[in-house]
Amino acid sequence: MSEIFTGSFTQQEPISEEAIAAALEVLRSGRLHRYNVAEGEAGETALLEQDFARMTGARFCLAVASGGYALATALRAAGVAPGDRVLTNAFTLAPVPGAIASVGARPVFVGVTEDLVIDLEDLRTKLDRADVLMLSHMRGHICDMDALMAICNAHGVTVIEDCAHTMGADWAGVPSGRHGLIGCYSTQTYKHVNSGEGGFLVSDDADVMARAVMLSGSYMLFDRHLAGPPPEAFAQAKYDTPNISGRMDNLRAAILRPQLRQLEAQKERWNARYAVIEEGLRDTAGLRLISRSEQERFVASSFQFLLLDWPAEKVTDVLRRCAARGVELKWFGAPEPAGYTSRYDSWRYADAEAMPATDRVLAGIVDLRLPLTFSLEDCALIARIIRAEVSAVWQAA
Ligand SMILES: *Cc1c(COP(=O)(O)O)cnc(C)c1O
Repeated sequence: MSEIFTGSFTQQEPISEEAIAAALEVLRSGRLHRYNVAEGEAGETALLEQDFARMTGARFCLAVASGGYALATALRAAGVAPGDRVLTNAFTLAPVPGAIASVGARPVFVGVTEDLVIDLEDLRTKLDRADVLMLSHMRGHICDMDALMAICNAHGVTVIEDCAHTMGADWAGVPSGRHGLIGCYSTQTYKHVNSGEGGFLVSDDADVMARAVMLSGSYMLFDRHLAGPPPEAFAQAKYDTPNISGRMDNLRAAILRPQLRQLEAQKERWNARYAVIEEGLRDTAGLRLISRSEQERFVASSFQFLLLDWPAEKVTDVLRRCAARGVELKWFGAPEPAGYTSRYDSWRYADAEAMPATDRVLAGIVDLRLPLTFSLEDCALIARIIRAEVSAVWQAA
């Protein structure tokens, strides 16, 4: 009898009682809009921004309606205009090229390595095509940030970081999102803190953040921000910047604040699960684990491995066999976009050029979520199932 996994890959943990109590307080007050605060009260959103700025060591923080909104706002605040080109990862999720398209700009895709990070050699050849790189730390894999920043700084390319999968992570002790001009984060249900929808921008640049605050829909109430730039930074921005509303609200902020305090502990729990799966899959013939730098302190909310150079039908076979045993795997190599996985060449509005080396890697990427509702025993079982099914298909080949 073969073992079957019965857990759900999409079931996150419940919102804590502490966060529920904070949410109830906001609900009872009726003051859900971030600027609708009582005399002498800061409001949960402004407090959340202060908390997140402290956590990341950023001078300024702005909470917004989604991670995708944070990315688009970052591009606008950095001065990206319609028709501009923006460098970004070929291995990322749809909201990243979508944010670029939303400001009328055009993505230029940069390849992915077998370690699932941006290919710095490919980046070098494309630096003269754009002034901005929107760097996606896709699935939490962080490239050599010192090398990347040196390359981009030398060419005057501004870096905006997509940290949807790296909230709480760091490279050589510097929090993810703090290398480039702006760091963007998501608080959507599948990320590292959960408010359903939501996001953050952080930066040390007062002018950039003044524009971001105005863009988000602050009206002339920007002085109510606890982690915003000083009023003088708004002298010009308040007249020049269109309002493209995308504010965070006090209800979501209230449930995020206790979660931020838990993040360090949650990180340990995610990484323990990752380690069990990694151990369980080690030395499986035909399966390649992703190597990670000593400098990278990641938050493993998902797991990837490569079935590199496998024929497509064998990969589908593995997926089908694992699914039959309750293990839901996603394949980034699938020719048709499905679920949350799609590839750069399925975003047809972006007219991408052919990238054979990247296609080879994408064709082998298999992905699974690691919700914290999985126990370590669950993770060991998932690894046994994947190992058995990969081996069965590999040996039959
Ligand atoms: C989820 C995600 C985003 C955007 O976040 P939303 O809050 O869902 O808009 C951006 N980049 C990546 C890589 C993501 O996974």
